Amino acid sequence: MRSIVSEAKPGLLAGNALHFFCARLFGIFNLKRIPERFPNMPTSDWKSLPTGYFTHQLVNLPNMLEEAPESPERIEAIENRLMLGGFGDRLRRVECGPAPMEAVLLAHDADYVEALEKASLGDEAALGRFEEPDTQVGRDTFDCAMASAGAVVRAVDSVFARTLKNAFCAVRPPGHHASRSRASGFCYLNNAAIGALWAAKRYKLERVMVLDFDAHHGDGTEEILAGHPNMRFLSVFQWPLFPHRRMDPQPANAILSPLPAGAGGAELRGVVEDVWLAEIERFRPELMILSAGFDAHAEERIAQLKAAEIDYACITRLLVEASWKYCEGRLVSVLEGGYELRSLGRSVFTHLQGLVRTPL
Ligand SMILES: [Zn+2]
Repeated sequence: MRSIVSEAKPGLLAGNALHFFCARLFGIFNLKRIPERFPNMPTSDWKSLPTGYFTHQLVNLPNMLEEAPESPERIEAIENRLMLGGFGDRLRRVECGPAPMEAVLLAHDADYVEALEKASLGDEAALGRFEEPDTQVGRDTFDCAMASAGAVVRAVDSVFARTLKNAFCAVRPPGHHASRSRASGFCYLNNAAIGALWAAKRYKLERVMVLDFDAHHGDGTEEILAGHPNMRFLSVFQWPLFPHRRMDPQPANAILSPLPAGAGGAELRGVVEDVWLAEIERFRPELMILSAGFDAHAEERIAQLKAAEIDYACITRLLVEASWKYCEGRLVSVLEGGYELRSLGRSVFTHLQGLVRTPL
């Protein structure tokens, strides 16, 4: 299996020594008091609620891998762009601790999660499960991955508690390549799948939709959600490209839309307009989770698609308006890829401008 990095930049990871410097910084994870049953929630005043900006303190830890593009500078680029302002009290920052293990185990095998924790503690046998160059494990890997999943779980809880209209999770590591028992492509725990399965269980949902517009196929999400009748997975991505892995047969609850290298924003938007909106209308999700990767941008070197900020603005508008129509705005967006810092900052800013909009 080629790595996500070595494919784009051969030799980049040569001699990749691991550097882990920071202490563990978790706060206490407090679940809010949440109504036990869905949909017994207030429905009239959600339109004026703010958007959540969920993150955690461990996003600032140094790279898992020296010179890897999945770096703390990604979140810094997003936050620097946010400091330019304009959101005011329409965007509420929430810092999170680790996900409840109960939620993580909905998406991952217990022995895999245990191995990830042991590997982070230096257990040599466990480290043997994480030998791919993109997913080596260091002291803080487990805690970082648990905190990223925790942000998504808490974002889900907040949109159901109706303390927030919708949410964006600015987290790393990303998650959509992680399958039930395997790390891949910078991903250890599948944040989007954990959020989707947690929501379905906690709020007794019958229809949860995960939509992935990262340039890379969300293969881990597809595998984890396969066979769940109350889940739909929609993914648009460049093909062929990492992870070069397709399920055979394709799960009945997945709709995959591969695009060739060189495809532009019009093609990306076309999939959303022609394929995704039709499926949203048919499925009528009670919750939408976005695997929001921004590496289809034309400035990205890790993929060869040609999207621009205006395309992310259009896609966000379409999906947010669909969430208003079908699920009272309950949309949780989760950062996946996006590695060119300037285009990532601009793209996320554009995405957030779409999320904070207030329905008329
Ligand atoms: Zn990607």
